[in-house]
Amino acid sequence: MTKFSDLSLNPKVLKAVEEAGYETPTPIQAGAIPPALAGRDVLGIAQTGTGKTAAFVMPMITLLARGRARARMPRSLVLCPTRELAAQVAENFDTYSKYVKLTKALLIGGVSFKEQDTLIDKGVDVLIATPGRLLDHFERGKLILNDVKVMVVDEADRMLDMGFIPDIERIFGLTPFTRQTLFFSATMAPEIERITNTFLSNPERIEVARQATTGENITQGVLMFKASRKDREGTEKRNALRKLIDAEGDKCTNAIIFCNRKMDVDVVAKSLKKHGYDAAPIHGDLDQSQRTRTLDGFRAGDLRFLVASDVAARGLDVPSVSHVFNFDVPSHAEDYVHRIGRTGRAGRDGKAIMICAPRDEKNLADVERLVQREIPRLDDPLGGGVTPTSEAAAKPADDSEKPRHSRSRSRKSDEKTKEQKPITEAPAKTEAAKPAPETKPAAQEKPRQKQDTARKDTPRSDNNRSRNNDNRGGNKVVGLGDHLPDFIGLSFEEREN
Ligand code: AMP
Repeated sequence: MTKFSDLSLNPKVLKAVEEAGYETPTPIQAGAIPPALAGRDVLGIAQTGTGKTAAFVMPMITLLARGRARARMPRSLVLCPTRELAAQVAENFDTYSKYVKLTKALLIGGVSFKEQDTLIDKGVDVLIATPGRLLDHFERGKLILNDVKVMVVDEADRMLDMGFIPDIERIFGLTPFTRQTLFFSATMAPEIERITNTFLSNPERIEVARQATTGENITQGVLMFKASRKDREGTEKRNALRKLIDAEGDKCTNAIIFCNRKMDVDVVAKSLKKHGYDAAPIHGDLDQSQRTRTLDGFRAGDLRFLVASDVAARGLDVPSVSHVFNFDVPSHAEDYVHRIGRTGRAGRDGKAIMICAPRDEKNLADVERLVQREIPRLDDPLGGGVTPTSEAAAKPADDSEKPRHSRSRSRKSDEKTKEQKPITEAPAKTEAAKPAPETKPAAQEKPRQKQDTARKDTPRSDNNRSRNNDNRGGNKVVGLGDHLPDFIGLSFEEREN
């Protein structure tokens, strides 16, 4: 078996690695470090949790150990999709460059420009940045990229999701043609393939197995959830989540709870807190100091439940998460793999539990296709309490009229919504006609997914009923527009039932 000492790393790096407690390189490290040290381009297909950060950080430190940066001309560049990931890369540099004198700067949102400007002005060996921030700096004339010798693109597939690919292409164009490129992505989407074909030169390709997909140490389960009424979906779903958590008892020492939308992240965190659970949210709209505080608390074990969006949690290294709860089925199947990969790390056992509402069933099928297994269905923790179909059947009109506004309402006012609220009141229809605000939050974090999310979520969320009436009901009602007279909706549903 390869040892770190076989890898021709700088002895000072080896000393730091040893002190960090690592003896054996992970497969991505064993595969990527030698060609990187030989000056070759590397294409690493590996997801987070495989040790991929150290796979580029260790050779970079070794390569940069000699030489000095000139003012405003960083010698290397690491591009990351999120601030958290950038901060994590910076931490890795600190760990492994303990005995090597290297300077670094971090260009990420939420960190003051001034401080980083001063560092860059002096000259840095390593510049770790999110693409937007880097280009801002460049455009202000604060940065010259002509001396970049090594450029790393980390989590390229996430960059693609977030709409950063044009920025990445531009940055590639601003760095010298002779640079060495270390490129990492969990998957190889066609667009990523195109970028690597364009900007990498004869790369050494290292692909490591998707650890989470087949992770036998992660027990998975899904609760097929259906609200008793659409206007109670949010409340009941959060109740189901609490029951699922409670059912795990002491085994659930800490957990990440993933939601598809930022707004839900806030609502779920708030609701858990209200019910006495130690929970806090993390997503892209929170300021940096708050995000850092929350994360540090979670890592230190002071916070039990981290409620997160995909982007905020991607790449985060929290080694001992006992559980992952998916409050929603992710709309991109790949995200399921990333999400559940947060648990069961480093050989520990983990548990991944998901809630699937009727509108998410197609997404669930996509996930199961990707992971090539059926995720076991869980018993309803409420003993059928979340699906009192008799109630729904007794009130067909409620069920028939609420769907289109239910999701926006569910976030804001589930708890406030009066059970007997007239189903045809004007605000409900107004909201029904405006799906856009709902899809925006997700879009801010993942611009490229905006249309998808809108397309997938909105119509499907409308139509719980479609399962019973093969879609006819949902489509027809939507087609009637804003001014659906009450009686049409009512009689229509009656007929369907
Ligand atoms: P990453 O894939 O970079 O997010 O790394 C995931 C985790 O693996 C981090 O907690 C690292 O500290 C840890 N790690 C990195 N290299 C090794 C190694 N050679 N052996 C064991 N753990 C490692």
